[in-house]
Amino acid sequence: MTGRGATIGIGAPGSASPRTGLWRNANILVCNGKPMSDDIERLLNCPIRMENDANCFALSEAHDGAGSGHAVVACFTIGTALGGGLVIDGKVRRGPNNEAAEFGHTPMPWPNESEWPLIPCFCGKNGCVEQYVSGTGLARDYRKMTGEDLKGPEIVAKASQGNGEAVAAIDRLADRLARLTAAIVNVIDPDIFVIGGGLSGLPELVEELGARSRARIRAKRAASGVRPDCGASYIPSPP
Ligand SMILES: [Zn+2]
Repeated sequence: MTGRGATIGIGAPGSASPRTGLWRNANILVCNGKPMSDDIERLLNCPIRMENDANCFALSEAHDGAGSGHAVVACFTIGTALGGGLVIDGKVRRGPNNEAAEFGHTPMPWPNESEWPLIPCFCGKNGCVEQYVSGTGLARDYRKMTGEDLKGPEIVAKASQGNGEAVAAIDRLADRLARLTAAIVNVIDPDIFVIGGGLSGLPELVEELGARSRARIRAKRAASGVRPDCGASYIPSPP
């Protein structure tokens, strides 16, 4: 304790509306529609700075993490949910709606029959990527295919023991992540993807990410490598 006042920074799912200042789009639903930073400031009696948690992750990785030295850094946090952040020339891209890089709430690219009917998302739309590429999505997919109710880490553990159904579920997750990265390359073409979050340590998710996404990238650019220094990252490179 210094005895002096301090500013507190909070990274949290969702974002503040640029129009009203109210928090919105958080998967912690109770936060939505509330003046989050004002409420916490009043309770703690000190200045609060709030930012989307995936944006915080992206900014950190772009400055002195796996994305350091790259102009355009696209980040995912794959855990219970799917967060996204985009840093361009060292600055977080928020956009006029404070909605840039909400990769988890873009539509699942190139959906196949295993993904129909499209899953409703808490945000009010159907087929958001987060419902497929996340720990929650992995658990739902596994339950749909096997009838067995397991959490994401339990499925990962079964896969590591060679269980066929669990291995297949991880494989579908990896394919879905690859389709998302390809769709982002087709729009933004970032210099590097940095992947963090609870599921980022899965080698199956990143080892073949480049090869899996290549077929979906219009320019047929290939991912050149995997750097495991931050969960994982990969760099789309020219052919
Ligand atoms: Zn959504």
